[in-house]
Amino acid sequence: KNDFISNMTHELKTPISTISLACEAIKDPDVGNDEETLNGFVSMIDQENKRLAKLVENVLQTALLEKGKMNLKLTEVRLDKLVREIIHAFQIRFQNKSGKIHIEELDEVLMDVDRIHFGNIIYNLLDNALKYCAVNPEVYVRLKKTTNGFNLYFKDNGIGIKKEDHKRIFEKLYRVPTGDVHNVKGFGLGLNYVDSIVKLHKGEITVESSVGKGSVFKINIENE
Ligand code: ADP
Repeated sequence: KNDFISNMTHELKTPISTISLACEAIKDPDVGNDEETLNGFVSMIDQENKRLAKLVENVLQTALLEKGKMNLKLTEVRLDKLVREIIHAFQIRFQNKSGKIHIEELDEVLMDVDRIHFGNIIYNLLDNALKYCAVNPEVYVRLKKTTNGFNLYFKDNGIGIKKEDHKRIFEKLYRVPTGDVHNVKGFGLGLNYVDSIVKLHKGEITVESSVGKGSVFKINIENE
């Protein structure tokens, strides 16, 4: 946890000081009058601010989960539509790395879930598939109706996860210690959050993966 705090301190301080420097620069009349330079600083601020927002969001979500204060707001959700929406929003990030998200199957599923948290689950899994893949990330998505619920499946062509780590990746703050992914940012909170939300829906998440062979994350949720 000490690692977490020093890591987090660094992660928070970097964007704050970048934003602060960019603000200083903008105050300079020479910069203020040069539109191109000005735009450069503004998009720098924008980008760093988004990074900060995501970080704060992650930490808050985890703090809430810890206190057991998380209340699900269940409403009827067309999951196929939600999945399609999020894939659509992500597609450009995959294309930028010459990859693609493929929809293998998308059954029409109407289910009582917490729309926001469930959306975050899909977001986190796609984000990981993109992060933990060296080149040309390809993800195959399947949503299948079952008798009383659904299976949701994400298969990636990423770096994979060795067997000993399959359980641990769902632990809070756990990150696979691999040199290859040292440059990938994260705090080991995402999958712990995903696991907690799936459990709050009385469901289950499993992983099948081996190093170099990609990973499959499967979620199963059934109504009682
Ligand atoms: P973070 O990405 O912030 O480190 P997560 O909880 O989302 O945290 O993931 C925990 C760890 O599991 C990651 O650090 C990574 O090592 C591994 N991991 C997660 N998703 C994948 C994936 N799709 N492919 C390979 N490794 C993964």
